[in-house]
Amino acid sequence: MNERDSEQVARMFVEGGYTLTREEQDADAILVNTCSVRDQAEQKALGKMGMMGKHREKRGHVVYGFMGCMAQSRGEELFDRVPHLDLVVGTQKYHRVFGYVDDILRRRQEERMDDPSMALEGHTVEEGASSPAPGEGRLVDTGLEKDSQNTIRDHVVAGKQATAFVSIMQGCNMRCSFCIVPDTRGRERGRPIPDVVEEVERLAQQGTREVTLLGQIVNLYGRTEFAKVNGKSPFVQLLEAVHEVEGIERIRFTSPHPIGYRDDLVEAFTYLPKLCSHIHFPMQSGSDRILKAMRRPYRNEKFITICEKMKAARADLAITTDIIVGFPTETEEDFQATVDCVKRLQFDNSFIFRYSKRKDTPAAEMEGQIPERVKEERNQELLKIQGEIATRKNAALIGTRQEILCTGPSKTNKERLSGRTTQNKIVIFDGDETRLTGEILEVDIEDSTGFTLFGKIVTRG
Ligand code: SF4
Repeated sequence: MNERDSEQVARMFVEGGYTLTREEQDADAILVNTCSVRDQAEQKALGKMGMMGKHREKRGHVVYGFMGCMAQSRGEELFDRVPHLDLVVGTQKYHRVFGYVDDILRRRQEERMDDPSMALEGHTVEEGASSPAPGEGRLVDTGLEKDSQNTIRDHVVAGKQATAFVSIMQGCNMRCSFCIVPDTRGRERGRPIPDVVEEVERLAQQGTREVTLLGQIVNLYGRTEFAKVNGKSPFVQLLEAVHEVEGIERIRFTSPHPIGYRDDLVEAFTYLPKLCSHIHFPMQSGSDRILKAMRRPYRNEKFITICEKMKAARADLAITTDIIVGFPTETEEDFQATVDCVKRLQFDNSFIFRYSKRKDTPAAEMEGQIPERVKEERNQELLKIQGEIATRKNAALIGTRQEILCTGPSKTNKERLSGRTTQNKIVIFDGDETRLTGEILEVDIEDSTGFTLFGKIVTRG
């Protein structure tokens, strides 16, 4: 979701006549979009921003800004942590970042032009720009803004882009006791179906073949704004509308929640063939007692029932999940309930996190915090179990023929191409990047590691 928000900001700069650069020393504005889900991510963002302050020495006009969740939750306090910071912009204000940065840059340029010593000495504005005085021109905007969910809608399409993320809503009305999202992202706000469809149509015209619909609780999209029609939730109505878009071959969504995962969504997998055979479905814990402490209002049995219904609706469905180990008060018995559930459901992959305290969340204040050593042991045990399941499942695909969408060069080996199966498994193969990126291909799977498949394109003679 942060990636998608960053893309929207980047697009506004491109439209405003700026060029994107990956080289921080060349940039006139350095913006860091921040995540607050784990403390480590915040520390990393602060460290990186601190290091990048050195560019001010040579280029005094450079604008520094934090956007996103950490900006939202910490606000002004960030100016104390990073003295060279100019801008702190919250999660409902991404669409304002360009205007703020552009204003600051113009003001700094004008100030230099008004300085007669610059003209007399024959400097360019940039060479002559000196650093702003500490505190000068600082701006913080973390307020709420009605309809801000409708502003994440444009893309930076660089060359052939086979896949794209589409943000369909912002915020979350749940109150999981470990999560800071409801504070940083605000309440649930869905975009109207026609707006989302229009964005997907534009992507399809530019060559995108697969879209992933994004929301904090994606299946609850629009529940407070849009009506059910013929018993179908707004989310299923949206899936049906996106399914109609010509040129889009695959649809994914992330992440659904057991609350509101109803039969209309299960059934959609039986009549919408563009829906990929994969869901990323966060379980968090296999213990009802821990789910309750997490303030996740469902029992593990409900989660299992949904998974089983989904597998019945789509026989080749892959399920991946998120799990937290070492949540406060988690006993060995609770942890074993999670292990049992992982073994029973045979997830294709799990993202396993050791619980870490997040400031201003109820779980951070709970009694019964688990020692790091125990969290680490449980983490390692579960990783091992999940690794074995994933390796076995991927090995079973050797010798099969899979349909993949080619997404371009592999991230780890630019000489080879990468694509994904409908189950979202990565396949590496050889071929011509220009010709094959964005194409749906058949690949014979020849080898596998735990999480990656290797194959050969099927050529028809
Ligand atoms: S459902 Fe829970 S974990 Fe997910 S964003 Fe909402 S509060 Fe956070």
